[in-house]
Amino acid sequence: MIQKIKGTMDILPDETPLFRYIESVMREESEKYGYGEIRTPTFESTELFVRGVGDTTDVVQKEMYTFLDGEDQRSISLRPEGTASVVRAIIENGRCSDPMPLKYYYIMSCFRHEKPQAGRSREFFQFGTEMFGSNSPAADATAISLASSVLRRLGLTNVSLHLNSIGCKCCRPAYRDALVAHFSEKKECLCDTCKSRLNRNPLRLLDCKSPVCSEIAKDAPRTVDYLCEDCRGRFDMLKEALDAMGIEYVVDPAIVRGLDYYTGAVFEFIAEGIGAQSTVCGGGRYDGLVESLGGPALSGIGFGMGLTRIVLAMRELGIDKVDTPSPDLYIAALGQSAMVKALGLVESLRREGRYAECDIVGRSLKAQMKYANKLGARYVLIVGDSEIESGTAQLRNMTDGTQSEVKLDAAVLSELMK
Ligand code: ATP
Ligand code: MG
Repeated sequence: MIQKIKGTMDILPDETPLFRYIESVMREESEKYGYGEIRTPTFESTELFVRGVGDTTDVVQKEMYTFLDGEDQRSISLRPEGTASVVRAIIENGRCSDPMPLKYYYIMSCFRHEKPQAGRSREFFQFGTEMFGSNSPAADATAISLASSVLRRLGLTNVSLHLNSIGCKCCRPAYRDALVAHFSEKKECLCDTCKSRLNRNPLRLLDCKSPVCSEIAKDAPRTVDYLCEDCRGRFDMLKEALDAMGIEYVVDPAIVRGLDYYTGAVFEFIAEGIGAQSTVCGGGRYDGLVESLGGPALSGIGFGMGLTRIVLAMRELGIDKVDTPSPDLYIAALGQSAMVKALGLVESLRREGRYAECDIVGRSLKAQMKYANKLGARYVLIVGDSEIESGTAQLRNMTDGTQSEVKLDAAVLSELMK
């Protein structure tokens, strides 16, 4: 038997209603905040992610699905995240001159060649939002508020907001030097990746998942102690705004995002009780990105939220059950003519907007009743040759067990189903 590729998943009809419910909350909340949906290609030029995500990141160095395409052997990659594609799309489609701010959201699959485990897969689904054209902390607060309102509406009381600022072009150099000094002392113990990026991008070392590196990172200098006056003022305003909006947070110097383009405010929503992959949402400000991808100097703020981790967090709280629709009517049909009659009735009821089903397998009455019960049908109608002749049949109300005689007429039945 051919099996699915490691790190991918099948989501079967028992689970899709939960995913659809989660997605509908994401869509509704995004649209309430004035974000419009954007859909971008599943694969892009590798160069877009190398420049957009950053060539010192794990994502670009180790995790991308890259291949050479077609006659010109152009290098293409499956998208590992959404931001770079959205930025490319707004530049390419001339949206950078639209009235600001620009607000986009997406629900997309992303691909990263990582070690699969609970909450980490190679194809995963991400809800993301991007806002361009405001560098005010009010925009940061709005993005955070959207993420938090999605989590709140989903009932995720086990999630908390961790906030940090990683500074800007002005405060980075001093901080960078302090970090390099810190890690250089223990250079021999660092993993190979960190050794190689120590001088190129030391901030990444704070994000390394290897046990030794993360231990060394624990007492590393903190970005918040190196912020310039402007960054400090912005971070203070963001905190005040969140206070005013009634959004709780903790300042957590350990939050540095894994991607190169972040500046200023960064945040994660972390869930309790779902294991090591506990970041359900991560985001922050990326003020240099649009320009570095060839667009105007537009600032940006966004986040990505992993759907499977949301499901794990809901499961942890026991709130992962959503109602699935059950038929208004099931017609148990006995014999070929009854099956044909039932098909006609079911067809008319469906056109009336009802959810109706009938037997199309040819099972015994007992088996059909059992099946109707399993589907959770509200009513069952039993139709055989004598019912076709009389034009009436017994309608059983499955909720209270009562029976009544009804005409074999779709309009009559539809009225009863109301
Ligand atoms: P992590 O620290 O878990 O590796 P990340 O910093 O690489 O996350 P982002 O690129 O910020 O993650 O992606 C945003 C969100 O997408 C994460 O917070 C997480 O919920 C989800 N996510 C990222 N990678 C995966 C994956 N491989 N499998 C499932 N969900 C993922
Ligand atoms: Mg990662």
